[in-house]
Amino acid sequence: MLQMERTLVLVKPDGVQRQLTGRVIGVFERRGLKIVGLKLIRITPDLAGRHYAEHRDKPFFQGLVDFITSGPVVAMVIEGKNCIAVVREMMGATDPQKAASATIRGRYGIDIGRNVVHSSDSLESSNREIALFFKQEELLDYTLDIQKWVYE
Ligand code: UDP
Ligand code: MG
Repeated sequence: MLQMERTLVLVKPDGVQRQLTGRVIGVFERRGLKIVGLKLIRITPDLAGRHYAEHRDKPFFQGLVDFITSGPVVAMVIEGKNCIAVVREMMGATDPQKAASATIRGRYGIDIGRNVVHSSDSLESSNREIALFFKQEELLDYTLDIQKWVYE
C-alpha cells in the first residue's frame, strides 16, 4: 500500500500573471488530489535562496531568484497517494519544450525559466519545502468526501 504523501506546489509569478492559477489548481482537483494548504504570497529573496539552495552555484541561480521574487506566487500543499511522483508527472519536464503536451508545463510553457509551476521532487524536499512555506496550523486536516471514489 502506497503512503499518503504531501507535496509543495507553487504557481510561479508567470503562472499568476498569466492567470493560470485556476487552471493549475483545477488540474490537481480533477485528479482527485486534496488541497490541504493554499495562499497567495510574495517570496522574499531570503526564502527564494533557501527554497532553491541546491541551485546556489548554478549559472541560472540569480535569474531564478529574481524571477521567483518578481511577483506574487500561489503556494499550496497537495495531499494524495504517492502524490510527490504523481504531481511531478502532471507538471512535466523542467524544460517545457521537452515536457509531454498533456502536462502543465507542456500545455502552458515555452521557456525553461518561465515554466509556470514548481513541485517538490522527493519526500525529503517536500518535508523541507512545506516547512519553509507553511506553518503547521496553516495545513488543514479534513476529509474530502469524494475520497472513497478516488481510492479503492
Ligand atoms: N531553471 C532555469 N534554467 C535551467 C535549469 C533550471 O531557469 O537551466 C529553473 C527552472 O525554472 C526550474 C528551476 O530553475 O524550474 C529549478 O530547477 P530544477 O532543476 O530543480 O527543475 P524543477 O525541479 O523545477 O523541474
Ligand atoms: Mg527542482
